[in-house]
Parts: sequence; structure tokens; C-alpha cells
Amino acid sequence: MRKFQVITLFPDMFTGVFGSSMMWKAQGGEFVELTTIDLREFGLGPRRQVDDTPYGGGDGMLLKPEPLFAAVEQAKSIDPTAKVLLMTPRGLRWKQAVAQEYSEQDNGYIFICGRYEGYDERILSVVDQEVSIGDYVLTGGELPAMTIIDSIVRLIPGVLGGESSAAIESFSDGETLEFPQYTRPEEFRGMKVPQVLLSGHHDNIATWRKEQSKKATKENTP
Ligand code: SAH
Repeated sequence: MRKFQVITLFPDMFTGVFGSSMMWKAQGGEFVELTTIDLREFGLGPRRQVDDTPYGGGDGMLLKPEPLFAAVEQAKSIDPTAKVLLMTPRGLRWKQAVAQEYSEQDNGYIFICGRYEGYDERILSVVDQEVSIGDYVLTGGELPAMTIIDSIVRLIPGVLGGESSAAIESFSDGETLEFPQYTRPEEFRGMKVPQVLLSGHHDNIATWRKEQSKKATKENTP
């Protein structure tokens, strides 16, 4: 059983994503367990404080070290070999190849979701990998954690229905994008399905798909 534990101030954000579709199904078998740890429970004092102002001045608040360390320690006590991932724009850029690599490991993962202006840097002493989902800034690490978990879970053997689906899709070789796909009806509002796909000629279909993939990749790669 692969455990994915998310440390967050907003566990409710995960209800929809963990409770729907593939992510929901994945938890039905013996493959995956997805849980959240509410950082607020580790807050200090009667008001359960989790944030404070930065030393040296500057805007905004930072997540304090005490609650973060306590939450990571609890997650580790549940899953001692889990790797700790810190969501941050500074981190390793998330890619399909990395998702593939992570899906093949035996260990679980603990996700730390930053909020406000970020977190006290000392949390890095318990982090195995800093991860970014792209060169833009979000208001918290929750969407990055969801994105990363989704991309790993669907690659875990046994989770996706058709085992081959993941092997032929976009980025499986690091760059190539998928070709266009069509389903019934053959004609919709005057738009026809490309003739070659109706031909039943497998070689021609394969060639067309390869060309279309190349075109999509060229047009959408910076
Ligand atoms: N002051 C920070 C941004 C804070 S955003 C800076 O300039 O880098 C608040 C939190 O959202 C971050 O601590 C991080 O956990 C998360 N976050 C925002 N954008 C992200 C991204 N592209 N990838 C991963 N995490 C991100």
C-alpha cells in the first residue's frame, strides 16, 4: 500500500479531488492510501497559531517551524520510509518522467503545502525533495500537491484501467504530445472525423497519428 500524506492548513480542498474518479477508485484496491494531516492541529497556544512574521522584515507571514516539524514527525511515525516533498516554486520542475520514476518506488510520500509567503527555511532539514509544478506562483501548495499526487497515482501499476494507456500518451518519451482523437458521431455540426481513422487501415492510421503527434509537439513546445 502506497501512502500519500498531505500536510495542509486546508484539508477540505482535497475532499473533491481524492473523492472523485480515478483517485477515488485507486483507494478502493490495495494500491493507494490518500490522507491529509491538518497543520492547524499542531498550532501553538489557545489560538493554534501556525504562522508568524519574517525575521528581517518584509510582507506577509511564514509557517512556523514547530507545527511543521510536529506534523512531519506524525506522518513519519505512520510511514517511516516515506519521502518528504516540499511544494515550492524553487523546487525541481515536475515532469512526466519524474512522475513515472516516483510511481515505480516502494515508499510513500509526505507532501508539505506552504501558505502565505511560505515557510521557515529550517523545515528543509527534514525534506527529501523540493518540488515545483511550474514557473508561476500559487497561493498555496495544495494545488501542486494534488497535481503531483494525481500524476503519480495514475501511473501505479493496476490503477489505470488499460495498462497501456499511460505508455502511449503525451510526454511518455519526455516530449511527444498525443495525436487528436475522435469518437462517435462520425459527423457533428458539419465537422467530420478524419477519413483515415474510418478506413480500418492500421498502417495508415499509425502513420497519420505519428505525423499529428509531431505537429502538435512542434506547435506547442517553446
Ligand atoms: N513567497 C514565495 C511564494 C509563496 S506562495 C515565493 O516567492 O517563492 C505560497 C506557497 O504556495 C509556497 O510556499 C508553496 O508551498 C506553494 N506554491 C506556490 N507556487 C508553487 C509552485 N509553482 N509549485 C509548487 N508550490 C507552489
